[in-house]
Amino acid sequence: MPSYPGQIQSKLPHVGTTIFTLMSRLAAEHKAINLSQGFPDFDCAPELRALVTKHFNAGVNQYPPMAGIAPLREAVAEKIESLYGAAYDPEHEVTIVPGATYAIYTAVAALIRPGDEVILFEPTYDSYGPAVEVHGGIPVYVQLRYPDYSIDWQAVQAAITPRTRLMIINTPHNPTATVLSAEDLRLLEGMLKKTNIVVISDEVYEHIVFDGYNHQSVARFPGLAERSFLVSSFGKTYHVTGWKMGYVAAPRELMNEFRKVHQFNAFVANSPLQYVFAEYMKNKDAYLQLAAFYQKKRDFFLDSLKGSRFKPLPSRGTFFQNLSYEAISEEKDTDLAVRLTKEHGVASIPVSVFYRQPPAHRVLRFCFAKSEQTLARGAEILSRL
Ligand code: PMP
Ligand code: GLN
Repeated sequence: MPSYPGQIQSKLPHVGTTIFTLMSRLAAEHKAINLSQGFPDFDCAPELRALVTKHFNAGVNQYPPMAGIAPLREAVAEKIESLYGAAYDPEHEVTIVPGATYAIYTAVAALIRPGDEVILFEPTYDSYGPAVEVHGGIPVYVQLRYPDYSIDWQAVQAAITPRTRLMIINTPHNPTATVLSAEDLRLLEGMLKKTNIVVISDEVYEHIVFDGYNHQSVARFPGLAERSFLVSSFGKTYHVTGWKMGYVAAPRELMNEFRKVHQFNAFVANSPLQYVFAEYMKNKDAYLQLAAFYQKKRDFFLDSLKGSRFKPLPSRGTFFQNLSYEAISEEKDTDLAVRLTKEHGVASIPVSVFYRQPPAHRVLRFCFAKSEQTLARGAEILSRL
């Protein structure tokens, strides 16, 4: 192909390929144990696969309704109400989407005009900043405090200006594996009370919270629910990250704007899989037991690392464990992550990529959504360093 003859003014001049793609590719090239990108190395439940066969053969292979099929929207609304107490109208306030990334991007597209400010927390999940910038928004970063990655609410208050349109929060948090407390959300609720600021609450790990903590959804706080897009993903909850399915719940006025963009973006999410989830969501244990399932994996991974010089940071939710390597190396985390993959056969994610400027502390993120065998092999290698 001849090269493009024009000039491209990139809308995202600083953006390259995502770290998840880079590290998974490097892991594959070097046949390394892949603890980098967040996805399970085990399959989803056989019952879920059986439902796929059933519904793909049931003649529901054409466009579903734009907002998603009614039974699935109803199942989502019912789940949110039973867990968090907020009643969303499935007709107007719940939309089924092709994944959480898409939901966040679409909500930003629906709201952000050039020059609008969007408060993000750093380290930031990698899709948020570009989603804001591509629409001409200005990300305003508030630092999470190392090593507990807590939110400095005074700094948040100071970051709010008359141009602040949106804030994106994420609990349980990727990449830090921390969770927000009820007190955090109460403070946020009070702070936003007299503003028009909208919140996107990324709750894709809502069912993966450890050590007896409760997930603090915005849906538990009326003053937040009334101004929030609650975003979640079926991929994390049902071990099917490759299916790219999720949902959004929001008050009707916000959802109207969301759907105006959604109908010209993806328009709909995959039809047969919506029937699959509408049926499978009746099995509440599948999500209610997820936290215990992953807590066991976290504990197994940590136990296997007992003799190691890596120092674990608290993992209170998600399927990630961060390890500080200050006692092992002075290398940059980006260099160490590559070297560990190539020379030792374990891939991880360097946490500095979630910052604009690399922070002073040195941390790698490891995904423990893996079989015990994989985790044991990975931990054994790491323990030798
Ligand atoms: N938000 C966070 C914090 C995530 O970790 C992920 C995915 N891994 C997503 C959003 C994206 O979810 P989905 O695959 O449904 O787009
Ligand atoms: N969210 C996943 C992670 O943090 C990856 C998703 C992706 O590759 N975009 O590893």
